[in-house]
Parts: sequence; C-alpha cells; structure tokens
Amino acid sequence: MKRFGVIGHPSSHSLSPVLHRRAFELLGLDCSYDSFDVPPGTLRGRLDEFREQGFRGLNVTLPHKEDAARIATEISDEARVVGAVNTLSFEPGRLVGDNTDVYGFAASLEAVRGNIERRPVLILGAGGSARAIVYALLTKFKPSGLSIANRTLSRAKELETHFRPFAGSSSLESVGHSHGVLQQLVERAGLVVHCTPVGMFPSVDECPVADEIRFHADQVVVDLIYTPLKTRLLSLAERQGARTISGLEMFLYQGARSFEIWLGKQMPVDTLRPVIIDALQTQRRERNS
Ligand code: NAP
Repeated sequence: MKRFGVIGHPSSHSLSPVLHRRAFELLGLDCSYDSFDVPPGTLRGRLDEFREQGFRGLNVTLPHKEDAARIATEISDEARVVGAVNTLSFEPGRLVGDNTDVYGFAASLEAVRGNIERRPVLILGAGGSARAIVYALLTKFKPSGLSIANRTLSRAKELETHFRPFAGSSSLESVGHSHGVLQQLVERAGLVVHCTPVGMFPSVDECPVADEIRFHADQVVVDLIYTPLKTRLLSLAERQGARTISGLEMFLYQGARSFEIWLGKQMPVDTLRPVIIDALQTQRRERNS
C-alpha cells in the first residue's frame, strides 16, 4: 500500500483525508491517507520518520509551509518564488517540494478568465495565501493591474516588491484599508479575491469590507474561505449581482494537483465536489451540536 497524509498543527479539521481517500476508492488505488499533528519545531525529525515508515507523499498545511520549503532538497520554481511548499514527495535520496496552491487557484478561475485578463484585480490580504494568489494571477492571467489591500500596509508593500519582477505589463500597487480607496478599487475590478481569515467559522458574521461597499454584475468575487461555503462577503457580492466562487474550488484543485504529482493520475474533481460539500455539512452539524 502507498502511504500519504497531511501534516499541520492543528491538522484534525483538514478535509484532505476525505478528498484523497474517496479518490483512491473511485480509482481503485491501494493507497492510504491520514492526518498527522506535527507541532512547530519538530518538522525535520518527523519528516525523517515518515520516510523511514515508507510514506510516498505529504500535504503540508499551517504552520509548516515555509519550513517545508527550507527542508526540501529540491523545490519547484513556484514553491521557491512563493516561499511555501504544500506538497512533499519522498523520492530515493531526495525530498521534493511543490506548491499546488498556485495551480489550484488558477484552475478554479479558468471559467472566468475573461474577467481577469487585461482587467484590474483587487486582492484583500497579504498573508501566506495571498503570495500564491498574486503569483498565479501575474503569471497565468496577466491582469491590467493588481492592487493589494491590507490592514498592515508594510506587508502589502513587501508583497508588491517581491512580485514586481513577475508583473510584466501589469501595474502593481499596495494600499491600506481605507473605505474610500477600497470602494474605488472594487468598482473598477473585474476580479476581487479575499485572502484573510475574516468571516471564517466561527466568526461567520464578520466581513472584510463594509456593508456599504458596492459590487456589480460584471465582476467575480472569490473568497478563499470555504467554512462556510457562502461567507458574508460572498452573500453581499451575490446580492449585488457579482458572480461568486468559494475557496472550495481552490481546495479541490490544489488537492487534485498533489494527487497527480504523486500518482500521475487525474483526480475526478467533479465527482468529489459533492463529497466534500457533504463532509463540510457534517462538520458544521458536529460543531453546532
Ligand atoms: P495568514 O497568512 O494568516 O494571512 C493573514 C492575512 O489576513 C494578513 O493579510 C492579515 O493582515 C489579514 N488579517 C487577519 N486578521 C485580520 C483582521 N481581523 N482584519 C483585517 N485583516 C486581517 O492566512 P492565509 O494562510 O493567507 O489564509 C487566509 C485565508 O485563506 C484563511 O481563511 C485560509 O483558511 C484560506 N485559505 C484557503 C485555501 C483554499 O484552498 N481555499 C488555501 C489557503 C488559505 P495583517 O497583515 O494586517 O495582519
């Protein structure tokens, strides 16, 4: 049996085991996938143990993505530029790191490419996930401009400086969280991507923008959050006619890419989407009971 898993701290909430186990079943693969709690500071030693136990690959989640990029013996260009690894493959004498969040995000937007190419994009947030999102947008969609809005302006500026070499003809700017500036940027954006935890379970009543912000019909709004599937931000945007996409799509496609890296097979994403929606509903019922 080929062994896989996800490591994080905490790790018990991850839906990756549900996704991969069901994919193994559907494709008749003799593989296992489990979640493992790996406390900070123990990653290197634990990776040696996983190798000794014959593991083929691991997904890596918070807080280990940056450390995994340092420990891997070789990493993909995307993982190097983003500075984070979310997929490790144990090869003889090598530990290979990839970042499938870049692919996952780009794949989740393929159907709305026309709203992004040569149009302005607004990113809300400048944390770990925003790095993969900025890189994916600049290198795979070429928007006319990309504005990074963050509570802490210096962090947005750091992202702007880091990704400037990849901007090509796209303009790049960083801004603070002032209501007036956000309203202007939202008005002209073909795509708005929310990359902070604001509005995630249990704080589902929170929203990263004021209720007065006006979205519009010629616009796509993505929330990377998928607990809940419809955040307050997505409800607000949808009521004003914008097309909305939940973080579930990125989750599915980043998992599909890891699966392909490890096994060379396509994950049946469309069959698995309702499986993960069911699992999310079960998680919600368990939390509420
Ligand atoms: P992170 O590195 O902790 O990012 C934190 C960002 O959120 C920073 O920009 C921070 O601003 C901002 N922030 C935090 N609390 C805030 C608040 N109360 N008000 C305003 N801004 C706030 O987190 P991350 O890894 O980027 O993840 C962000 C979200 O994306 C999470 O909900 C995560 O679950 C989700 N995610 C989803 C996927 C997927 O596959 N769908 C993948 C990765 C992440 P400051 O710089 O000012 O602190």
